[in-house]
Amino acid sequence: MPHNPVTGDRADRALPPLSPRVEVALLARALFRQGYNDFNTGHMTYRQRDDTFLVLDSGVGWNEQRPSDVVSVDADGNRLEGAGEVTPAIILHLEYHKLHEDCIWTVHQHPEYATIWAAAGRIPSVYSQRGASLLEDIGLYEEYEGGVDEWPAANAAARAIGEKKAVLLRNHGVFVAGSDVAQVFSRCVALENRCRVAWRVEALGGGMEMPEPAQRSLLAVNRDRFGFRSPGLWEWAVRQELREDPTLEAEVSGPSPSAPSSSRT
Ligand SMILES: [Zn+2]
Repeated sequence: MPHNPVTGDRADRALPPLSPRVEVALLARALFRQGYNDFNTGHMTYRQRDDTFLVLDSGVGWNEQRPSDVVSVDADGNRLEGAGEVTPAIILHLEYHKLHEDCIWTVHQHPEYATIWAAAGRIPSVYSQRGASLLEDIGLYEEYEGGVDEWPAANAAARAIGEKKAVLLRNHGVFVAGSDVAQVFSRCVALENRCRVAWRVEALGGGMEMPEPAQRSLLAVNRDRFGFRSPGLWEWAVRQELREDPTLEAEVSGPSPSAPSSSRT
């Protein structure tokens, strides 16, 4: 039986085995194309089975991250392996992970459109299918005070984010969580899509918000059939990144990722 109701088992669409470091670098590059393109200012974490975390090299842009740049840190942010730079702001993510033990991935960036809504202090209405996939997972964190690179501030922010999975940080950017790379990528894309479409609709003079029953119907499909993953979206993004930068091929090898995942984060 096909493992994916859209892409099926077609061998030409299957991904090669991706190591955890490869997934981190490819996620950064793929998100850069989706509006998460504020140079190097974002960060992400990928929890490993031993409760260490893979993080980006904050010294380079998201579109030039390489698997060999990815850094391993412990739960307190101490470098374990890797030569890349680690931003002090990573502690927001580490605090969030302490509060959500089933969370595997977190992403923070300043995407083009979501940052506008974050500055406005408003959650955009739903005008399209992709934007509907967030429904109760979208949130707004209004108490942001300019930095989370101190543990108390990071803890307060992580607590305020709570159980939301796609959060607008007031006057700052976004914070997105997921249980695997396909899920967190889908959420990030859905959040920026929702913000972009709403911006354009309202710039046009307004539009018709999707009725809540339709939103809930779409959400049920997204949750029950796809586990909050847009079918084929991550695979499409990986194929694109490997096409765009053939030099990555040399680093895309090795065993499958060994990190844990949960079904609902
Ligand atoms: Zn930021």
